[in-house]
Amino acid sequence: MKIAFVFNPFKYKLHEENLRIVQKYFGLFPPLSLAWAAAIAEKAGHTAEIIDARTLGLSMEETLERLREFKPDILGFMMTTYMFRETLEWIRFLKKHLKVPVVIGGYNLRVYPRESLSPPEIDFGVVEQAYFTLPALLSEIEGGRKFADVPGLVYKEDDRIIVTPHPQTIVFDDFPNPARHLLPNHLYAEFPTERKNFTVMVTSLGCPMNCTFCEAGQTIYNPRSPLTVVNEMQECYDRYGVREIDIFDYEFPMVRDRTLAICRELQRRNLDLTWACRSRIDTVDTELLEE
Ligand code: SF4
Repeated sequence: MKIAFVFNPFKYKLHEENLRIVQKYFGLFPPLSLAWAAAIAEKAGHTAEIIDARTLGLSMEETLERLREFKPDILGFMMTTYMFRETLEWIRFLKKHLKVPVVIGGYNLRVYPRESLSPPEIDFGVVEQAYFTLPALLSEIEGGRKFADVPGLVYKEDDRIIVTPHPQTIVFDDFPNPARHLLPNHLYAEFPTERKNFTVMVTSLGCPMNCTFCEAGQTIYNPRSPLTVVNEMQECYDRYGVREIDIFDYEFPMVRDRTLAICRELQRRNLDLTWACRSRIDTVDTELLEE
């Protein structure tokens, strides 16, 4: 099957004029979730395309032109809460012209799986990670259409919206590297350095800490191994000319030994990389920071 993922333009804040400066200088980040979904689809034998309309500055009409050339069998979108309304407008426009099914992913679906699928233009939702769900969904669209057998899926049957269970355990280390070969890597940039090329990575899922204000607290911590992490960095460096990486993990230095092993392997390979991560103040110390 041919699946096209579209990353549409959006504003971080719709109603707060004084935050335009944040919008302007926030940086231009690759749509990592879509790149992962594309890699998972490719690994399962499908053909994937990502149109980063936000970064390329494409209008809906220009995006439609590109999609008509690719001829997708299905369209994929990420519908994080702050993007939901704008993404829905794009889905409505593209679906009206292409008349193919639409699948969405994003955090919305974990909290509001049924509500997220209530717009008639949206056919399927991936509730958890795409690793098991997307290949099974594409296979059922091609063949049996037994969507009840697809794990972690939201779908519509008659007038009902159905959510299937996801009994499989996600092993993050098994994930393929994101399909950065489908992205315009030379266009991304981080504020304030703007060192090129720039990319983002996620090296662990979840966070076991318990900060009361945080939605990620006490979620299952699922790290990739130090070697997998550094191999992905090396791939970014060699294949995509990446020289700066922002690591988007909730709590990158959660496991001290893993963090030290990543730092030491990076030093051993002598990669000229600038990288940043997010951390609690009490999971780093002087020795770790100096490493
Ligand atoms: S350490 Fe960070 S990600 Fe984890 S619960 Fe606290 S604020 Fe959230």
